[in-house]
Amino acid sequence: TTEIKNREEGYWRLSKLSVPVDMDPGKDVLCISDGLLQAIAKVLEFPVASMLPPEAFFIVRKSFDARKSLKEPKFVYTVDMDVKKLLNMEPRTWDFILKLEPRLGLREYLPHRKTSSDVITIINDNNQIKGYTGSTGDGHAISSETIHKVAFPKKPKIAVVGSGPSGLFASLVLGELGAEVTLIERGQGVEQRGRDIGSLVVRRILQPESNFCFGEGGAGTWSDGKLVTRIGRNTESVQAIMKTLVYFGAPPSILVDGKPHLGTDRLVSLLRNFRRHLQGLGVDIKFGTKLDDLLMENSRVVGIKTSDNHKLAYDAVVLAVGHSARDVYQMLHRHGVELVPKDFAVGLRIEHPQELINSIQYADLASEVCRGRGRLPVADYKVVKYVDDKDFGPSTSYGDTSRSCYSFCMCPGGQVVLTSTNPSEICINGMSFSRRASKWANAAIVVTVSSKEFKDFQHFGPLAGVEFQREFEKRAATMGGGNFVVPVQTVTDFLENKLTVMDVPQSSYRLGVKASSLHQLFPFHITQALQQSITTFDKELPGFISKDALLHGVETRTSSPLQIPRDKETFESLSLKGLYPIGEGAGYAGGILSAAVDGLYSGFAVAKALNLYHDDI
Ligand code: FAD
Repeated sequence: TTEIKNREEGYWRLSKLSVPVDMDPGKDVLCISDGLLQAIAKVLEFPVASMLPPEAFFIVRKSFDARKSLKEPKFVYTVDMDVKKLLNMEPRTWDFILKLEPRLGLREYLPHRKTSSDVITIINDNNQIKGYTGSTGDGHAISSETIHKVAFPKKPKIAVVGSGPSGLFASLVLGELGAEVTLIERGQGVEQRGRDIGSLVVRRILQPESNFCFGEGGAGTWSDGKLVTRIGRNTESVQAIMKTLVYFGAPPSILVDGKPHLGTDRLVSLLRNFRRHLQGLGVDIKFGTKLDDLLMENSRVVGIKTSDNHKLAYDAVVLAVGHSARDVYQMLHRHGVELVPKDFAVGLRIEHPQELINSIQYADLASEVCRGRGRLPVADYKVVKYVDDKDFGPSTSYGDTSRSCYSFCMCPGGQVVLTSTNPSEICINGMSFSRRASKWANAAIVVTVSSKEFKDFQHFGPLAGVEFQREFEKRAATMGGGNFVVPVQTVTDFLENKLTVMDVPQSSYRLGVKASSLHQLFPFHITQALQQSITTFDKELPGFISKDALLHGVETRTSSPLQIPRDKETFESLSLKGLYPIGEGAGYAGGILSAAVDGLYSGFAVAKALNLYHDDI
């Protein structure tokens, strides 16, 4: 009792609060409902839920849990309880609360909870860097109290190449810290890029520099916009990114939603706001401008040569080009920059009718989804299986490998899209709009591959993984017969190694599909791994193997096939001074959030290297 009295200023975090679907206001509504108060009262063992003051509770996280092991799906909340606000309750109630201390169980005490007003952000009202607490990547903490911008007689000039999440956040930090930043992007701004993607989808015209991979916002713009990451949702860097996205127009619910999602429509307007902010900081954004070469002096980058034949001098070059910039990899290789092959994953994209996935996941509650307008989120799934090559018969020529096969980049209510940047190659991915209202659910089903499997491509040196990807993209284009037609096969045929040309289910892919023998596309062990895993996934998600499920080829660009080694603290390339490789293309991120975080860290690292700020520590 004494202890809790001393904690009158603090918060208790209450987690795993379950609210049944019929007592919850639904997926998009964040309020302290009667159902949630009842769940809180249950955890607190407080007898009368209606006596709890709603203003004492703040929703930290809301998710929908539809795991098969549950009797029925439910909403699950994490809530912070403000002890001070509870003190306003009538005395007998407070006496009861005081007795809670020994039964903390699911509750965590937070003496210094961050409230929404002091949550970290990279920008403050005066557009100055403020209050970013976290680490620069070298584990060194930075906060508003410790950062002091340095007034330069001459600002350092930095080129950031690539306007994907990593390049944008690096530009933001560097711009806020006072560098003279030029952001160079081979693709177009979102307005023109939207038109280019439109003419690809409607008239089959692929602009090699403005497409689903290249252009403002990077590969993540015409995407599903899932904001999930394995680097920890609550880390301060991830929170800083999320707050910044909200600042630029993302809905604040992404800060609380257990599976935050933006959708292409929201990303486009958000990116426009991001661009205006960068321009306000003096960042010079050059769309339709490609980095063609690096200029070097004394083994150091001193500038870049662009596609419009300009030679521009810079103090540092931040390389944020993503993993589809194969020409950049080649250019780096030519200059002797160290590139190290790394593992990635390849496979196929499976598409089901969304209603089927809703009913597999939600059973009788599936009707509550209503194509993105209902109370329940459009259903998704995540499956994984570990397989061993030894199970498939004689050893492969490179030896046996244990590998995982898993669903990746699942897009509920989405569509399959073409992410090739070259007409002689086919690779695909998935995107969606914010409502996720389409009739289809798609996800990549991929198998990990390691560099020892790229043996046939060894003469390409560290680019062997790129050539491995390209080989299957070319095979897919040939199977499709050209004109961006995608090869497809029903799951049932794929499992039985046969091809039925009739009765191919409909696909969301807009440029046409052709029934093909996808079981012959990959080497035997990859096909076997996919077949075995899909069979297991059906046990977890009964109905996953269905005559309506269609596999599309080919999914190859799950992550970068190589890494550009860099210093852990300074982020500078280990083989070329003045070059800072960042984001997914450099092998340091996978997905929108982790790429953005890498951009944030690298922004601070480059700023520190160029003495743009100093700190008190
Ligand atoms: P990129 O976003 O690839 O950006 C690199 C930029 O550099 C591009 O704009 C490119 O045009 C530019 N560039 C390349 N070469 C040059 C050059 N020579 N000169 C000038 N500019 C150059 N991730 C998620 O987390 N959630 C999702 O829902 C999701 N869905 C996706 C859907 C699709 C269709 C695709 C393709 C990807 C999706 N991803 C998703 C992955 C995500 O988009 C990437 O992980 C992320 O964008 C990587 O960020 P990046 O900044 O490292 O590189």
